[in-house]
Amino acid sequence: MSKILIVEDEEAIADLEKDYLELSGFAVEVANDGETGLNKALEEDYDLLILDLMLPGVDGFEICRKVRDEKNTPIIMVSAKKDDIDKIRGLGLGADDYMTKPFSPSELVARVKAHLARYERLIGSAVEENKVIEIRGLKIDTTARRVWVNGEERAFTTKEFDLLTFLASHPNHVYTKDELFSQIWDMESIGDIATVTVHIKKIREKIEYDTSNPQYIETIWGVGYRFKM
Ligand code: CA
Repeated sequence: MSKILIVEDEEAIADLEKDYLELSGFAVEVANDGETGLNKALEEDYDLLILDLMLPGVDGFEICRKVRDEKNTPIIMVSAKKDDIDKIRGLGLGADDYMTKPFSPSELVARVKAHLARYERLIGSAVEENKVIEIRGLKIDTTARRVWVNGEERAFTTKEFDLLTFLASHPNHVYTKDELFSQIWDMESIGDIATVTVHIKKIREKIEYDTSNPQYIETIWGVGYRFKM
């Protein structure tokens, strides 16, 4: 449920806005003066702010500016004076929308919904998707470091995962055991290229249907390994 903060000193207006927004399924809190409003807006997490311009104490200009310094919460500014609206637009305080009082509550609800939807799209597009490699029945989530074979998750050790991911990220490329060893194991690590062979064997046991006839990691005799695309 989206949470909205109304900062409005005229209680009748605040109540009306609150009622309409609650009827539309929003959780609403009201602050009747600027200072309370500013503190709440900064300390708590709201999905949207409705900010009256003329307030006792800290006014809407200042609240908007201070909130914008810290947060991207959508802000709808309301004012009784059309002139003030022009003024705040001109100041570029970073409010997302402006409404002149009196306005119809349904107009307010419509704008709130529009801004919330826009903001969610913005947030959604900013979330980085996991990098996933999918080759036939094999799915590797390289971000979450998880592997599925035909929808069934398999557990991998760190090095097995690194080796599998490296090969699957470079399909059809033949790597020697030396190359793979230096890619996956750092130079100081104890072991030798036989480690690569052992790990390939373990990976195959986890991802191949028939390890004697591998479908993913092929052995190129006398050279090394290749991930079949
Ligand atoms: Ca006011």
